[in-house]
Amino acid sequence: MEKRELTCIECPVGCRITVEVENGVAVSVTGNGCPRGKLYAENEVVSPKRVVTSTVRRYDDKMIPVKTDVPVRKSEIFAVMKKINSFVLDRKAKIGDVIVYGISDDANLVVTANID
Ligand code: SF4
Repeated sequence: MEKRELTCIECPVGCRITVEVENGVAVSVTGNGCPRGKLYAENEVVSPKRVVTSTVRRYDDKMIPVKTDVPVRKSEIFAVMKKINSFVLDRKAKIGDVIVYGISDDANLVVTANID
């Protein structure tokens, strides 16, 4: 049985979590301060995911902050960044607007700040 030490990134508390892994599956999770930490740890040892944050170029060359609306598998992040880097937003968009649907799996790309 493999033991892994993680720091939960689901909130600023940053609980230190110990996960026991057997055959690629979390069989024990301790140290989490809440159920979100348990879920984070279980996913992290099987298929780690991260929210991707970046910027996209708008038609007027202004850079618009964006992020995926759900975490993306780490193995997909490079492909997502490639799409973000080649994308040009052809209109003004406000915070929360989806500008690319399905940028990866079930993740969409959303605007995170209002830029004039
Ligand atoms: S386990 Fe819960 S309380 Fe601890 S860092 Fe994660 S989300 Fe925050």
